[in-house]
Amino acid sequence: MNMQEYIEEAEGALLHTYNRYQVVLDRGDGVYLYDTDGIKYLDFASGIGVFALGYKNREYNNALKAQIDKLLHTSNYYYNVPAVNAAKKLKAVSGMDRVFFTNSGAEAVEGALKAARKYAYLKDGSSDHEIIAMNHSFHGRTFGALSVTGNAKYREPFEPMIGNIRFADLNDIDSVKEQLTDKTCAIILEPVQGEGGIIPAAEDFLREVKSLCEKRDILLILDEIQCGMGRTGYMYAWQRYGVKPDIMVTAKALGCGVPVGAFLMTEKVAARSLTAGDHGTTYGGNPFVCTAVEKVLDLYEENHVTEHVREVTPYLENCLDTLKEKYDCILERRGTGLMQGLVFDRPVRDIIGRALEEGLILINAGENVIRFLPPLIVSKANIDEMADILESCIEPDGEIS
Ligand SMILES: *Cc1c(COP(=O)(O)O)cnc(C)c1O
Repeated sequence: MNMQEYIEEAEGALLHTYNRYQVVLDRGDGVYLYDTDGIKYLDFASGIGVFALGYKNREYNNALKAQIDKLLHTSNYYYNVPAVNAAKKLKAVSGMDRVFFTNSGAEAVEGALKAARKYAYLKDGSSDHEIIAMNHSFHGRTFGALSVTGNAKYREPFEPMIGNIRFADLNDIDSVKEQLTDKTCAIILEPVQGEGGIIPAAEDFLREVKSLCEKRDILLILDEIQCGMGRTGYMYAWQRYGVKPDIMVTAKALGCGVPVGAFLMTEKVAARSLTAGDHGTTYGGNPFVCTAVEKVLDLYEENHVTEHVREVTPYLENCLDTLKEKYDCILERRGTGLMQGLVFDRPVRDIIGRALEEGLILINAGENVIRFLPPLIVSKANIDEMADILESCIEPDGEIS
């Protein structure tokens, strides 16, 4: 079949919950993807920040192949060696104490919310605790995760949500204080908002939220699903400021392509929240996905991935700033590390579509923001290539070509 035929078959079989770009991706190599017609694309989206190590990494692929022939799945009624190793390594890089592996980011958020409610429940036995989340946040599509997602458009058709969620504004500590009550049991936020438009939390805001939490024994839940795993130049974005969460959620680049997430907590929370029988998952943390996690964490260390991110970040920022200076239609660059956004004065879907035709994969974050989430192994030459293609898709007068 040719690409158009695949697309037609897909539209006849898959539920239409995405307006997909008109391309069928077939294979990957490093920072490049190829479609079923053999056309090559420079990838600056990495599957929404998932394929941090690039495609076709030999060591990673070999580890997975070997595990396939050994054992794929056991259920959580038993121990398995890859899960032990992956959990140990994840503890080490995150500084957290206890790990629960999940199949996705949203499932990790669900676990985090349950842990926070259980923690509060064990303190006073009541079941009317509240959680504060941020406007413009994104935490996933399941009911709990959706309930704390600060985008009414995503929530409304599916209401009622889980109750007792209040929304405040990121980087506005007074708005958080306004939502605070005696019933608040947790505050959940992304250290860098992703889907909401690439908006980093300010250091002083994070510190003030943390200090509020400490004073009132409220749990701080940080969603590091998109901004974690080295993307900001630190394994987890909070490590830049030392604002340690009580519960942390991670996914996306954690498995670099296999579906795996995790929620982690400090010993303090672990000792007073979820216990045997409270939570579970059939697939979560199976030997296959945990082999990926273990290998990914090894490869990050061997290849000095966070150091590399810190090295190339100024180069990417500079390229994007140059574009911003040159074109009036670009209002702002924002972001941190290899998680950057260019804010346009118009919807960016056309520019992204045109870039795709020119062999560059980009995604948006909200209507007007182009989001840059390249594989973390991206080189300065790749960044130049990206900037050249992107520029060719913007007309000098700011119109879209
Ligand atoms: C992607 C994302 C999620 C949801 O993860 P899924 O694996 O799609 O369920 C949650 N929070 C943030 C910040 C994300 O970027």
